[in-house]
Amino acid sequence: MEVKTTEAPKERSLNFVEEIIENYIAETGGAIQTRFPPEPNGYLHIGHAKSICLNFGLAERYNGKCNLRFDDTNPVKEDTEYVDSIKEDIKWLGFNWAVERYASDYFDQLYEWAVELIKKGKAYVDDQTQEEIRLGRGTVQQAGTESPWRNRSVEENLKLFEEMKEGKYADGEKVLRAKIDMAHPNMLFRDPILYRILHTEHHRTGNKWCIYPMYDYAHGQSDSIERITHSICTLEFDVHRPLYDWFIQELGIFPSHQYEFARLNLTYTVMSKRKLLQLVKDQVVTGWDDPRMPTICALRRKGYTPASIRAFAEKVGVAKRDNVIDLSLLEYCVREDLNKVAERRMAVIDPLKVVVTNYPEGKSEIFSCVNNPEDEAAGRREVPFGREIFIEQADFMEEPPKGYYRLRPGGEVRLRYGYLIKCEEVVKDEAGNVVELRCTYDPESAGGGSSDGRKVKGVIHWVSAADAVEAEVRLYDNLFAKEAPDDVEEGKTFTDYLNPNSLVVKRALCERSLGEAKVGDRFQFERVGYFCVDKDSTAEKLVFNRTVTLKDTWAKLQKK
Ligand code: ATP
Ligand code: MG
Repeated sequence: MEVKTTEAPKERSLNFVEEIIENYIAETGGAIQTRFPPEPNGYLHIGHAKSICLNFGLAERYNGKCNLRFDDTNPVKEDTEYVDSIKEDIKWLGFNWAVERYASDYFDQLYEWAVELIKKGKAYVDDQTQEEIRLGRGTVQQAGTESPWRNRSVEENLKLFEEMKEGKYADGEKVLRAKIDMAHPNMLFRDPILYRILHTEHHRTGNKWCIYPMYDYAHGQSDSIERITHSICTLEFDVHRPLYDWFIQELGIFPSHQYEFARLNLTYTVMSKRKLLQLVKDQVVTGWDDPRMPTICALRRKGYTPASIRAFAEKVGVAKRDNVIDLSLLEYCVREDLNKVAERRMAVIDPLKVVVTNYPEGKSEIFSCVNNPEDEAAGRREVPFGREIFIEQADFMEEPPKGYYRLRPGGEVRLRYGYLIKCEEVVKDEAGNVVELRCTYDPESAGGGSSDGRKVKGVIHWVSAADAVEAEVRLYDNLFAKEAPDDVEEGKTFTDYLNPNSLVVKRALCERSLGEAKVGDRFQFERVGYFCVDKDSTAEKLVFNRTVTLKDTWAKLQKK
């Protein structure tokens, strides 16, 4: 069979998995088959997105196929809620699986293979307790000890294993173990457990089974059944690889091969499902899709685009050594994409009232504004202007430092898409806070000019007071204040490093057209950041999530 390959992106050389695959195709002429194997015990996170982009991406690039296989061998923690969310997330990222499978589809076959191993004298039923088995395994320096049940006859093992399946024994009473070598330098070879008894209902097989295969026994054989050519997983599984190969060899089945790459770690984030579940259960966050979570559904709700996540996965690359990626790279990727696709709007987060004193009372006008300078097809919209407007509090300073080009007493600034205004008078309350500015405008300055050709450097955004639409804006920051929240100091836990300011809620005033925004719509609030309409929005109340800030050059200058 001829296999067509499209080339890897021009701007980079092949990563090590691509090299392996290109060699495989050159040698065998066969098509590749990959799989993404999530355990349905939680929602997918950005680390899984990396694995999805890799497995599905390779299949796409090399005209192969990628299966979705749920690794559902532990009925205690698994649920269909998770199955559904996983499928939704993969589709949203833009990938399609060749077939949808479950490790539980293979329980019959796996059982038969276990019987085969017993018949070959390569597996036995052990009556030891979990603790005895653990102690008997020995240590890296010291060989383990053989179980007293290790030399049962094949007949007895077959009978006991069948009885295990039929529910004759309680949880933990017996296990099926491979019979390999209790002194093996690789601890995983010291008679690994293949099956344990769990009288628990399974989300797919119901009560058919009360024995369940262990990961190491199920995974490779499931790969083999699906004729997976490249079983790609994360680095911590490299010590499992010899055992993966051992089962396949002993059973003489399709030789799938495992390859390991470095898992994705991000700064200011925890990624293990166990920890994410704890944050949900302890109500540190509002749910798996709380926009501060690193889950795919949270990133979606926050306003991330599929393209930005795929670009991120590509930029991170495929490494052989563990590393930690800076969260700012993910933010960079979403800014890059939103800059191209998000329409511009004006919204004021911390409003300061401005009265344009020489603008006739009762008059108003409409400016026609470009929706997206990066995309002509996005068209234009109407933005009303009137005598009273709101500007951002931070765009006025009474005694500004050098390099501040926004509004100051006696100073002039351009209103984005509109007129030049000059600050004539500062109105304060009794406490001395600035509550209003009284300005004049240059009637000849609409559309960029001015009455005498003078140049004004600063441009600020604004909203017409008479037309403003109120909205709740949720300003998110990192969920953790510590760069590596998994590195806990003695006596602490990762939740001790939560950022108390990870969510700030404000009331913003938005330009009129935002009143029509729909859940999921993404915008750039000019000079403020990228925002997305949250699912909590109602007809009465708009809610926006801040996806990411714009790069704030002013903040950078101030730090210097
Ligand atoms: P966690 O440790 O977060 O609970 P997991 O490895 O148990 O994750 P699975 O559902 O078993 O989660 O993972 C499905 C696939 O995604 C596996 O192939 C796994 O190696 C991969 N994966 C999980 N986390 C990461 C990560 N941080 N980076 C890259 N790949 C990952
Ligand atoms: Mg796992």
